[in-house]
Amino acid sequence: MTDDFWDPEFDTKPWDELQAWQRAQLPNFLAALAGRSPFYASRLVELDVAGAAEPRRWAQVPFTTKDDLRAGQQRPDTDNMLGDLQGVEDAQISQVIASSGTTGTPVFFGLTEDDRLAWADSIANMFFTAGIRKDSVVALTTGMPLVAGGMPYADAIRRIGATLVWVGGQTPARMASITEKLKVDTFVGTASFATFFADRCEDVLGRPASELSVRTIIAGGEPGLGQEAIRSRVRADWGATRISEVMGLGDVMSGLWGECPAGPGMHFTAARSVYVELIDPDTGEVVEWAPGAKGEAVYTTFTRQATPALRFRSRDHLEVLNTAECACGRTAPTVHCIGRTDDMLIYKAMNVFPSAIRDVVMDGFSAEIAGPMRLRKENAAQVRFDDPIPLEVELPAGSEGPGAEDLAGRISEQVRERLRVRVAVELVGPGTISIGEYKNALTYTKA
Ligand SMILES: [Zn+2]
Repeated sequence: MTDDFWDPEFDTKPWDELQAWQRAQLPNFLAALAGRSPFYASRLVELDVAGAAEPRRWAQVPFTTKDDLRAGQQRPDTDNMLGDLQGVEDAQISQVIASSGTTGTPVFFGLTEDDRLAWADSIANMFFTAGIRKDSVVALTTGMPLVAGGMPYADAIRRIGATLVWVGGQTPARMASITEKLKVDTFVGTASFATFFADRCEDVLGRPASELSVRTIIAGGEPGLGQEAIRSRVRADWGATRISEVMGLGDVMSGLWGECPAGPGMHFTAARSVYVELIDPDTGEVVEWAPGAKGEAVYTTFTRQATPALRFRSRDHLEVLNTAECACGRTAPTVHCIGRTDDMLIYKAMNVFPSAIRDVVMDGFSAEIAGPMRLRKENAAQVRFDDPIPLEVELPAGSEGPGAEDLAGRISEQVRERLRVRVAVELVGPGTISIGEYKNALTYTKA
């Protein structure tokens, strides 16, 4: 560690060199995997494992999906605690983590002691990149130890040597008092919770959150913090001097990407253990790292022992911002997350992410609206829309009345122009759309 880098060697190694080093690890990883996991053994039969360091050969390696993981866990023909994808004996597993399970059955992942140490180190790099230092006092707001942002985040924060104040899982009122009493300077949670919690602090403590000592806000778990309007709101709420977006996923590693002080976008921070590729989600072809390139992130955990992931399709769609050396000195590309396949809607054969609609609206109208908005579906499974998508947009206090109809029209026009998607805007009164404590869902189904 230096003042600027958690892992000076890897953080500043040219990206091509770094990926070449990673590719050199892949053949051994595949060979070991075939011997350890029945699921992967069956998939690797026909493959040239020894040649896998070569990109063209590697591209032949089959993808793993979330459904594969789920099915592998449900098969009754294995005694392994974590099913067919488990690569070690049960006794070697030192920790189990659950996918947050917003959709479908939760999937469980395991870590051996070596895995756990590798995670702590790489996730520490993510948090270090995002602004946590040894002298930081960090409020971790995750409510449950079992999830990806639970114990693994706590381990990583302590690995840096920072002071961990795990306030999650208590009432927001208690969290607010602890934050004040212990002079917390760093918040870790979701972007929507950062906003919600700022309001609760003011209610409970009788003074604005910006008068507390929190100055660094680190948020992930949902796209949004890449958006300037949301960022300025968080900055104003907390009087924050540093806002950093982070991203990871339990299936691969809880922390994979972190935003540096130079910004914008997040650097890849898990290169010692995870190989990342971008692919075209429709064809599965590899997309080269270049500014403006877009693709689905695919991850291979080439050091993970307990439940390794091989070319795991994350369903996260990323856009590459920069591939040249960043002003901060890091050499890994920076990206932002455009959205998740699971959230994607189809309007007359056009794909659109709810977050893209939200971003367009926040971009043009943040001064005239309260912030919360949501798209309404007829039922939870609805993905296709042939009529304009109903969009509820909340007005700020004291702004109802004349002009409202005009505002609705201007919003739908802007969305149509920028995204070629029609929305039917319904302006709703202040407080109509409650902000969830942990996730601000952008779609909902009317009961
Ligand atoms: Zn940077």
